[in-house]
Amino acid sequence: MSDGERKKNVLLDIAAQGRALDKILVEKSREVKSLRRNLAEPITGPDDLDNARKAAEKSVILFRLRREHQELASAQIAKKKFDGGAEVYRTCSGACGEKISDKRLAAVPWAIYCTQCQELQDQFERDEFSPVSLVEPDDT
Ligand SMILES: [Zn+2]
Repeated sequence: MSDGERKKNVLLDIAAQGRALDKILVEKSREVKSLRRNLAEPITGPDDLDNARKAAEKSVILFRLRREHQELASAQIAKKKFDGGAEVYRTCSGACGEKISDKRLAAVPWAIYCTQCQELQDQFERDEFSPVSLVEPDDT
């Protein structure tokens, strides 16, 4: 590892990442709840056009809910990893077991995969696998 790389590794403020994760967990669970509430509202207006518009809105909400829910699940896993220590938090949960780059963690504090494993995961998701299907099962 070069001096430059070592310096870059120190740049990620682990305490700040922890605070960011806590904030994200609160925000995302609030967002998921709110989207679920929106989705649960019945479409029972007298106006067909209005009802069609509401149904279209619901499909957008469903799309957002799916994404928010995946990110919340990822944030929960990231938080668990974080509580296990900085090294655990920074290690990819995919098959590679490599370090997740600081740049990625700074941009996406809830990331649990390196970029390569995330791409693989996204491919799985397109095939309707669960968002956590690449995580090694816990022994506990
Ligand atoms: Zn990986």
